[in-house]
Amino acid sequence: MAYKYIDNYREQGARKQLVDLLRKKGIEDEDVLKAIGKVPRHFFFDETFWSQAYRDIAFPIGEGQTISQPYTVAYQTQLLHIHQGDKVLEIGTGSGYQTCILMELGAKVYTIERQEKLFERTIQVLPRMGYKPEFILGDGSKGVPEHAHYNKIIVTAGAPTVPDELLKQLKVGGILIIPVGDAEKQKMVTILKTGENDYEKIVLDTFRFVPLIGDKAW
Ligand code: SAH
Repeated sequence: MAYKYIDNYREQGARKQLVDLLRKKGIEDEDVLKAIGKVPRHFFFDETFWSQAYRDIAFPIGEGQTISQPYTVAYQTQLLHIHQGDKVLEIGTGSGYQTCILMELGAKVYTIERQEKLFERTIQVLPRMGYKPEFILGDGSKGVPEHAHYNKIIVTAGAPTVPDELLKQLKVGGILIIPVGDAEKQKMVTILKTGENDYEKIVLDTFRFVPLIGDKAW
């Protein structure tokens, strides 16, 4: 794919409209909306598909994977309550769009992807856009213990259960957001680690993610 990094008025206008739409759909966190308004989502698309970049839909990015729907990205990000300097583990880099949103909110991001081609693409694209997270290639269903513990963990693929490893790698006071269910649909699960072995779990809305594939997943 040929990528171009030009942010024209047309794309800027479309991005503003997307932010308004997400607000209407119930996203309330103004910092999250500001981040969505800032990151040029069309940079993750071939120029042929720029007209699709600010629609509120998921879109194929190759290797059978998708760039998540903007509403889903905003929804998950809002639940993370990112503070400046939070250490965040993202499982499922995909296009890298979610990574950029987290970084706009001031997070220090460790992002892991299992598909080599997607990994190779994001290590080129993101730094060119000015985002320099820690990129890791591998199976994130076991987390990334080398860099633990994290303030926040976000899983952007659907898991059959909540892997214990992820809970262990969370700091006390930390938050894990993970879609849990079957291949067809998953419930968004948010877990707050209230003590070394204590957790509060809240089950929220239904979504449809690509599967989390790995040792502690499908
Ligand atoms: N946040 C991404 C969404 C990508 S879709 C975005 O905004 O574009 C989910 C991604 O998770 C896919 O790229 C898939 O390859 C990856 N994935 C699935 N199982 C994984 C695992 N065990 N470890 C790391 N990445 C995984």
